Amino acid sequence: MKQICSGCQKELGFLNTPNFGGGKLLDGGRVCRNCFKVMTKHDISFSLKSKIKYSSQNVYNIINKTKIEIQNVVDRPLPNKLKVETVLPFEDSFENYEKAEENEIINLNALVIIGYIDLKKNFSKRRITIKKIIKNSNDFLINSFCHERNSIRSFKLSRITELVDLETGEIFENPIKFIQDRINETPVGSIVKFFQEYIHEINLMVYMGRVDGYLHENERIKICNFLILKSNNTLDLDILDSEIRRMNSDSSQFRESLNEVSKMENKKVEVFSILKEIAYSDNNLDSMEEGILNLVKKEFQI
Ligand SMILES: [Zn+2]
Repeated sequence: MKQICSGCQKELGFLNTPNFGGGKLLDGGRVCRNCFKVMTKHDISFSLKSKIKYSSQNVYNIINKTKIEIQNVVDRPLPNKLKVETVLPFEDSFENYEKAEENEIINLNALVIIGYIDLKKNFSKRRITIKKIIKNSNDFLINSFCHERNSIRSFKLSRITELVDLETGEIFENPIKFIQDRINETPVGSIVKFFQEYIHEINLMVYMGRVDGYLHENERIKICNFLILKSNNTLDLDILDSEIRRMNSDSSQFRESLNEVSKMENKKVEVFSILKEIAYSDNNLDSMEEGILNLVKKEFQI
């Protein structure tokens, strides 16, 4: 019978067993290479003393405590430079939509304030992250995370009465044009289209950058540089930066994108190194940033 890792309970095989008898434990248990790394981080003497210092239960507890921390990836605070007076109806009335084709969906992840009149003529004003724009017959559905309701809400573009950048307070005179410009063949539209190809990488970078709620200039420069290197076309820097600046990535998006990128062998090392640069861009690694880096490293198995 094959032995299992005392930490993660995976079967130990030729590829994941530490070399030279490493990772053996007090009671005959053993850990895999990944758990070995995690344990050495926890206690530098683990590599030499695992067999005299640690039982399987000790290791299991330590490894799974790290896992619980990983599941605790949290949503970032929102930028609060702008004081927003929100207005909410007693109850939201929902917009229904049929499942759209994949190519009719655009990921935007823009942090804005909207004024909205729903189908029962109730007015609301709320902070949302526009996650996806979905073409829906003659209109567009704005699939969003509503920060007031803490829940997903869809809004019809034609019912949006105001649109304001949550971070800068910039008012977009024409909400409908704001969305249409991002869908159509316009300078900003071509950048948004290009973003679709790298949406998971962008989600991870933005999540890392927004640890404190704000995407600082240094962080945005790193993200922009990454994208400039990826693009075959010359990108308009002002547009690129202002689109990135408005972006927000929540914890569920972060998990989803982490999972997607971890399947792409050729991307992991590069993405990890850019995340590290973003984390260190203020020359200081706080515990939140460190936790995210550790999590990414573990998920990517690098
Ligand atoms: Zn293990």
